[in-house]
Amino acid sequence: MSSNYTFQTKLLHNNQKFDPETGAVSVPIQHASTFHQKDIDVFGKYDYSRSLNPTREALEEVIAELEEGIRGFAFSSGMAAISTAFLLLSQGDHVVITEDVYGGTYRMTTEVLSRFGIEHTFVDMTNLEEVKEAIRPNTKVFYVETPSNPLLKVTDIQAISSLARQHGALTFVDNTFLTPALQKPLSLGADIVLHSATKFLSGHSDVVAGLAVVKDPDLGARLAFLQNSFGAVLGVQDAWLVLRGIKTLQVRLDQSVKSAKKIAGFLNDHPSVKKVHYPGFADHPGYKIQKMQAVNAGAVLSFELEDELSMRTFVENAKIPVFAVSLGAVESILSYPAKMSHAAMPASEREQRGITDSLLRLSVGLESADDIIEDFKAALSAAGKTKHSILQRG
Ligand SMILES: *Cc1c(COP(=O)(O)O)cnc(C)c1O
Repeated sequence: MSSNYTFQTKLLHNNQKFDPETGAVSVPIQHASTFHQKDIDVFGKYDYSRSLNPTREALEEVIAELEEGIRGFAFSSGMAAISTAFLLLSQGDHVVITEDVYGGTYRMTTEVLSRFGIEHTFVDMTNLEEVKEAIRPNTKVFYVETPSNPLLKVTDIQAISSLARQHGALTFVDNTFLTPALQKPLSLGADIVLHSATKFLSGHSDVVAGLAVVKDPDLGARLAFLQNSFGAVLGVQDAWLVLRGIKTLQVRLDQSVKSAKKIAGFLNDHPSVKKVHYPGFADHPGYKIQKMQAVNAGAVLSFELEDELSMRTFVENAKIPVFAVSLGAVESILSYPAKMSHAAMPASEREQRGITDSLLRLSVGLESADDIIEDFKAALSAAGKTKHSILQRG
């Protein structure tokens, strides 16, 4: 019904615009766990809420339309969505997975899937030769996260998807960092798009949720079977919160991306900042691919300070962002990947992947970019002074 609208309009004018029964402009929260069946032989559309619930279904329809897929699934967390998708694999299968994958996905792959005899090879997904070398006869899934966390490395979704197709394997893309507002992996050839809806989609740091979308009906039926079998479904209150968050996705992202560009530029020019990782910079190695496959570079960046002490002083002095795990919220969030998102990764692995002890990640929220820049100026100056006084003390 709404296929001719732009993405921004579709966020509001979709099948859930109003409730056909009452005209209510907000999706009703259906708490019922079970549904009365009028006929002993033929059950109604809904029978039990783990299998299907009208409120969760509304969210599943909305995300399927926004990702340009045919079927969506809502889970109790991003990790529940990712783990359920991994259940498509069987003992003896092999996964080629990006080396700077989200810490929880790293943990799931290395410590859980491995116990079930599902093998994996970590690769630099931005290096197609390395990806090709990792392929085995039993490779069934290519697992992509782009831009990656926390180094914002950009993977060519089209290239990986066609490689996967040639080998009869599926491509999973974690689209948490960009959302369908900025990148649509299914239209670039991916088979399953995954989300931590805890982040930008809901956007207010007040709900934990996960989503998955597919474009193939058979794959949809297999995932529906697994969603019902494993049972990590999203509760109805939380489904409603995600639905509400999605309505403002475009305006929140527009504002945050604008600020992220400005802040990234400021950090890049600052002498106390060693390196800024942001795919919006023309000299970022993934800039061209990012431009080709996404609307812009998103609202997350990371940066390295001189050393761990400068990093600590900066964090102690930066007043605006909350210092926390997570991203994609109305408030800016500063996090320390080495001890937060990537704590599950052994130190040697982390360092090897470039996730150093002086690296910070910033998810830009809706505050004034100028206020954040002033705040960071003061914090960087404090960090510079610490270093100076140590040098003087010799
Ligand atoms: C947060 C996050 C996840 C995990 O999602 P949860 O909702 O915390 O379970 C997965 N991938 C990425 C990129 C994330 O940022």
